[in-house]
Amino acid sequence: MRSNALIVVDVQYDFCEGGSLAVVGGLGMASRLAAALRDEAFVGRYDVLVTTQDWHIDPGAHFAAAGQVPDFQTSWPVHCVAGSDGARIIAELDDAVAGIETIPVIRVFKGHYSAAYSGFEGVTGDDERLLDRLRSDGVTDVDIAGIATDYCVKQTAIHAADAGFGTTVLQDFAVGIDDADVAALYASGFAAAGVSVRHR
Ligand SMILES: [Zn+2]
Repeated sequence: MRSNALIVVDVQYDFCEGGSLAVVGGLGMASRLAAALRDEAFVGRYDVLVTTQDWHIDPGAHFAAAGQVPDFQTSWPVHCVAGSDGARIIAELDDAVAGIETIPVIRVFKGHYSAAYSGFEGVTGDDERLLDRLRSDGVTDVDIAGIATDYCVKQTAIHAADAGFGTTVLQDFAVGIDDADVAALYASGFAAAGVSVRHR
């Protein structure tokens, strides 16, 4: 029997317009995804909903040192500091998540003390690893949405496929940083990693 999870990656204020590491289109995508999560037919596809949040306490070199310019590949402006407003999930989306009563919602936090691009590097509030939780829930397939297509969505998808989940990225509900990198992922990169792509 198949069991499906939707994983919503890092749709946080710091990764959307107005945030410290803003990705263009983040707010619009959050709004579209919130609308989908208020649609019973969309939610009905899933047995579990997972949200991930970048949640930095002291992530070392993941944050560019004071006075240094981030390279936007491995070092970044300060973002998603644990407990800060920038680390919150976009309110419209978070309200839609909170309104879901038919399936369990698992909230996952990652990157406490080092860089963490994949949601599978995260843990629940009970310190349970996402992979262990999905396996204990009997999940076989995951759809992945969120920010950014070419970083945390990509790494979460690769991890999911490597762990044996049937894995699909939902293109309408993902936004990326580098247009060329995103185009390459959709053209061949995801397929090469065993990841399917669907619009929504
Ligand atoms: Zn981060």
